[in-house]
Amino acid sequence: MLKVENLTCQIADRVILKDLDLEIKKGEISVLMGPNGSGKSTLAKLLMGHPECEISKGKIIFQGKNITELDVTERARKGIFLAFQHPLEIPGVNFRSYLRLAFNSMRSKKEQLPVFKFRNLLQEKAKLFNIPDKLLNRNLNEGLSGGEKKKMEILQMAILNPKLAILDETDSGLDIDALAIVFENIAKLKSQNPDLSVLIITHYHKVFTYLKPDRVNIIYHGTIVETGDAALLDKIEKNGYKQYEEK
Ligand code: ADP
Ligand code: MG
Repeated sequence: MLKVENLTCQIADRVILKDLDLEIKKGEISVLMGPNGSGKSTLAKLLMGHPECEISKGKIIFQGKNITELDVTERARKGIFLAFQHPLEIPGVNFRSYLRLAFNSMRSKKEQLPVFKFRNLLQEKAKLFNIPDKLLNRNLNEGLSGGEKKKMEILQMAILNPKLAILDETDSGLDIDALAIVFENIAKLKSQNPDLSVLIITHYHKVFTYLKPDRVNIIYHGTIVETGDAALLDKIEKNGYKQYEEK
């Protein structure tokens, strides 16, 4: 469903991603791993259409269409969702209103929901993920703990119902209990929606006790250097990334 071909991009003349190829199939849980600074967040943002890194070569194909030139909103409408490494706090923006706006902006007039119907949908999903009502009434991420922010992101995902969810170090800054809750919620969402493809960016092996990956991609210096099944995780845990250093 997603194919990245030969993608090369630069920030201020410095090449960040180079001839990068990546494929994610429908319903697959894919992992992207690599050392700090290897380009993981840059790739995540590029897939979502945040134009920080300027593409000089290659393309991004999503569900058979070339989306390289589409902006963030258009990609969100097509079903791509990015959970940021550091979710922004937006004081004064109410979570419910924000999410209803996002939800409706992706739907035709006929499919849009009025306040009370949206409220029911949100309540139902929040219950499923054990999110207390009081969190729904807060402003977007304002004053939330790291774990609460990540929980709210999974809730947003459940409401917006994407086809491809990209999770950029969703585990970063979480203690083990919060991590368990967040990844169990992702597993729950995935089990309700088997066609959902997930790209998990992480360093943390513990994540894979909650979610079993179908495919593992290793990124090193801005390019995918190895792709394999879950066994690749053990190889990385044992040998690290040094093995990919060019002579
Ligand atoms: P990762 O997420 O794998 O840790 P990033 O994608 O954040 O890596 O960064 C890849 C490289 O791009 C790093 O060398 C980083 O310094 C550089 N980079 C990222 N964003 C910017 C920016 N806005 N300006 C300049 N360099 C950047
Ligand atoms: Mg990063």
